[in-house]
Amino acid sequence: MSRIAIIRKKAKLRGLLGIRARLVILGLILVCPLMVDRVRLLEHTRASQLAAVTNNVATLAQRAADAQREVISSVEAVLKSAAYIHASASQIGRSCSILRASLRVDLPSVRMLSVADKNGLVYCSTASAFVGAQVSDRAYFRRALEIHDFVVSDFLVGTQSGKGTILAAYPVSAIDFSEEAVLIAGINLDWLSDIMSNLAGHAGLSVVMIDGEGTVLAASPNQRQQIGFKLDQAPLAFALGANPPDRELATTHDDDDRLLTVSRIPGTNARLVATLDESVVSAAIDQEIFTAYLQLGLVCLMVLLGALIAAERLIVKPISMLTSAAQRFAHGDWAARANRTRLPSEFQPLARAFNAMAAQLGQRERELVATNNNLSRIASMDLLSGLANRRGFQARLDVEWMRAAQHGRPLALLMLDVDHFKMFNDSYGHPEGDACLSRVGEALAAVADDTGGFAARYGGEEFCLLLPEADAATAMGVGEMVRATIERLALPHRSSVFQRVTISVGVAAAVPAADAAPTDLVEAADAALYAAKHRGRNTVVEHGFVRTADPVAMAFAS
Ligand code: GH3
Ligand code: MG
Ligand code: MG
Repeated sequence: MSRIAIIRKKAKLRGLLGIRARLVILGLILVCPLMVDRVRLLEHTRASQLAAVTNNVATLAQRAADAQREVISSVEAVLKSAAYIHASASQIGRSCSILRASLRVDLPSVRMLSVADKNGLVYCSTASAFVGAQVSDRAYFRRALEIHDFVVSDFLVGTQSGKGTILAAYPVSAIDFSEEAVLIAGINLDWLSDIMSNLAGHAGLSVVMIDGEGTVLAASPNQRQQIGFKLDQAPLAFALGANPPDRELATTHDDDDRLLTVSRIPGTNARLVATLDESVVSAAIDQEIFTAYLQLGLVCLMVLLGALIAAERLIVKPISMLTSAAQRFAHGDWAARANRTRLPSEFQPLARAFNAMAAQLGQRERELVATNNNLSRIASMDLLSGLANRRGFQARLDVEWMRAAQHGRPLALLMLDVDHFKMFNDSYGHPEGDACLSRVGEALAAVADDTGGFAARYGGEEFCLLLPEADAATAMGVGEMVRATIERLALPHRSSVFQRVTISVGVAAAVPAADAAPTDLVEAADAALYAAKHRGRNTVVEHGFVRTADPVAMAFAS
């Protein structure tokens, strides 16, 4: 891009960026880093809050798994001690009754305790309903006989109770090889679920315990309805696939933004699965963050509004005030000044300078007007006679004509011409001629003063006298007065028949008609003057003011 193009673009940009826009940008520049920092803090808070909840859940899940482990251990301990009792009691033939009497079945974790012979027939039980039940087809029973160790079943439905349960089995052969009975304990699943109730109260969190097949054995209170059913497909695949070692957790995120935590209960196929719906957890945090963003937005808005108001009050308004004062001044209000008291202190020097400049310009303007007036007065004056010149006369005639026309009043004009003035010059010289004209002017001015007329030198040795409000008779009287005044001056003129300077006067008077013009009056007066000359000079002739194509003919007609 060329240098000129860049300069043009810059100028255009500057034009677009007014003071308000600039202050808003300045406000944004000030607020933006704070906003970015606040957003960063909020996002950090969000992440750490989510991490805290996740951590919390992991700890709780671990604790629940530990508690479950303890339950299984306590059941194992109960079964082992029962096996000892059974082994000892069987030798004295009263194993069942002793077992029933000695075993505490009010333990929260054990629902019932039974003994089955090697063929799987339950012949002794703390719950009489189980006596006679056949368990030889049950996997846990066969496995206990096979491995001679403690076994926990998967979820199964009791043949007697019809209720879902899990059973723990312990073969007496593990202690006394000659004995082939198997002790069976029913584990209280409600109690397992109760343990999990301390996980309640966490929005978005569900905890279930599943067996090796994925059937829910126990669940936190909000998930109780799942007990006895298979876990959902997605978490199940992960829960069964993950094989975390003892006291370890396996975690993953599924497609629905859920955090899955799986821990195993040692010695069993059971797993504790905690599912944390992060969208639910983060919804609460998001709400807080939304409020914080809202506050942030409001603060920004206030800052921008503040910047706009400040720009308006501190800069734009003072500038408009100064501009308006300058405009008033430009339109001719010389008294226009900036009101300094209403301006911020930074604008005071500018206002002072403006007022000083305005005062000086006002003074110059007044001087200029006075000079102009003087010049136009001089331009309308005849220096020799001291009267108005033809230009001045013309202007005055127009005004008086208009006034007379408006009010329907008469206006009269006297045209005066010095008789045989050429011969005067020839006799006395041009300077004497000038002096003569000057005397005639003086005399005419005096008559004008007396009669309220306006006297002017029309050109050469011709003069005129405009008489507002004068009809033909009055004008004739004034014409005679002027003629007589000049005659009385008795200025010597040896080549004239009158032996003194005389004038001829043409008089015209009229009430201006709508279609008449000031020139008509002049032409009529001139025609009357012409007639006066013809009548022998030193005389006054009146012209009846009628517009005609031939003013001379009119003059003779009067
Ligand atoms: P009439 O009686 O018919 O008016 O005769 P006139 O000689 O006055 O008329 P004319 O028009 O023949 O001559 C006018 C003379 O006035 C000619 C000119 O030299 C003289 N004149 C005009 N203006 C001035 C002036 O300013 N000063 C002097 N001294 N003479 C002037
Ligand atoms: Mg003349
Ligand atoms: Mg003349």
